[in-house]
Amino acid sequence: MSKTSLRKFRCMKCQEVYDIKTYDSVNVTKDPDIKERCLSGDIFHFECPHCHESYMLSYPCLYHDMDSKFMIWLNEEDKGIAKDLSDKFIETGYTLRRCEDINSFIEKLQIFDDGLDDRVVEFSKYDSFIDYTKNKKGNIEDIEGIYYHGFENDILKINIRTVDKGATIMVPYDAVLSEIENHSDLFNIKDKNFPVIDSKWIISIFEEAQSKKS
Ligand SMILES: [Zn+2]
Repeated sequence: MSKTSLRKFRCMKCQEVYDIKTYDSVNVTKDPDIKERCLSGDIFHFECPHCHESYMLSYPCLYHDMDSKFMIWLNEEDKGIAKDLSDKFIETGYTLRRCEDINSFIEKLQIFDDGLDDRVVEFSKYDSFIDYTKNKKGNIEDIEGIYYHGFENDILKINIRTVDKGATIMVPYDAVLSEIENHSDLFNIKDKNFPVIDSKWIISIFEEAQSKKS
C-alpha cells in the first residue's frame, strides 16, 4: 500500500500553518487510483486553506509499479533506501531510478509507464538538441528545456521548449535502441542502484567516448 505522512507547512503568503499530506511511497499496483495523481503532479500540489495560495512542494517519494517492475525515487539526495533492499529488487528484474526534481520525476514516470527505455529517451533528447542548434532552427539561449512528449507508432516525440514557441522532433525509437544496444559497453548502466539517468548522464557517456578516441 501507499504510505503517507502528515506534515506542518507554513504558508509563505499568509504565514498560517496547515497540515499537508505527503506520500513517502506510492504503490500503483495496489493503489491504482493514485497513479494519475502522480503523473499529473497533483500529489505535489497544495493549497493553503486560509488564503488559497497554491504551491508545488517537492518531498522524497518512492513510486512503485509491481506489474511493470520499476521504482522511481524522487529525492535530491542519494540516501534513505537500504542497499540490500534495492539489491533484492534488482535481482528480480526491477529497474530502479532516482530523480532530483518533480519535473524529471514526472517525465520518468511517463517514460516507464509507456514501457520505454529511458536511455533511448535521453539519447534522443540530446540528439534533438544538437540537431536543433546545428541546423539553426532556433537560438540556443532561447531553449528552456527539452522534454519527452509521448510515443506513438514507434516514434518518440521530443519537445524543445523555447521562450516564444518550441518544436517537436520525431525520433524513430527502434533505430536509437539498436544504436544503444550495439554500443552496450558505453551505454550499459553499471550501478543499477537508483542511478540518475538524465542529460548529465548522456553527456558523461559522450565525453567518455571522446576521451577514449583521443
Ligand atoms: Zn496562506
